[in-house]
Amino acid sequence: MITQQLLKRAKKRGKKKNKPKQYKNKKHLDFIHQQRCCLRDNLKDCLGVLQAHHLLKPWDGVRGMGMKASDKNVIPLCMRHHIMLHNFGNEFNFFGQMTGDPDYGRKVAEKYWNESPFKENDSD
Ligand SMILES: [Zn+2]
Repeated sequence: MITQQLLKRAKKRGKKKNKPKQYKNKKHLDFIHQQRCCLRDNLKDCLGVLQAHHLLKPWDGVRGMGMKASDKNVIPLCMRHHIMLHNFGNEFNFFGQMTGDPDYGRKVAEKYWNESPFKENDSD
């Protein structure tokens, strides 16, 4: 989906003085990395290291062109389920099939954000 050209452009943009408005929170990402896979209760076949997945469809707004969702929109997924999600392509269909709730990913991301010790109000 993301072309090399877009990646190069994004890198160039990152070097400019004006910072992107995308919300970043490294500590919250670390917090997510300490959780267990959010599909573990539904699927018993978790495998691999835990990864933080940035939602393709954020709960707190639309993601910008060619940008990843903000760091509020992350969910913990084991490597296997992370790969499965990306192979599936459509987040709503994926969670609908895996958990019966297409909005599951958004709910998990919002829950972890609200529970995060590193939650903070950003001005955006
Ligand atoms: Zn898993």
